Amino acid sequence: MKCKVCGSPTRVLETRGGDFNTTVRRRECVKYGHRFATYEVGSAPYNNLKSRAALYAQAENRRIERWQRNQRIVDDPRPSSEVAADLGLPASTVRHIRRTHL
Ligand SMILES: [Zn+2]
Repeated sequence: MKCKVCGSPTRVLETRGGDFNTTVRRRECVKYGHRFATYEVGSAPYNNLKSRAALYAQAENRRIERWQRNQRIVDDPRPSSEVAADLGLPASTVRHIRRTHL
């Protein structure tokens, strides 16, 4: 899977069973060393508490990834258009993130 921050390939550092019947994989991007975790939810139905907790963990992970990506956009000294092309995002999104400073 690709790095959520920069889109580079990633490698798995560790795989373990998480809470609520999830599989947690800690990943690192091979280019910049960005780190994040992915949570895999099994095939259990979603209408029980355990699966909902797993989905919550997944949502939280996405929130952290988004924060890291936004942080990188703000810190990147290049023009918005170059950063946008690099990350595969619309330039307007990059400008918006910079304008609002997170
Ligand atoms: Zn990366």
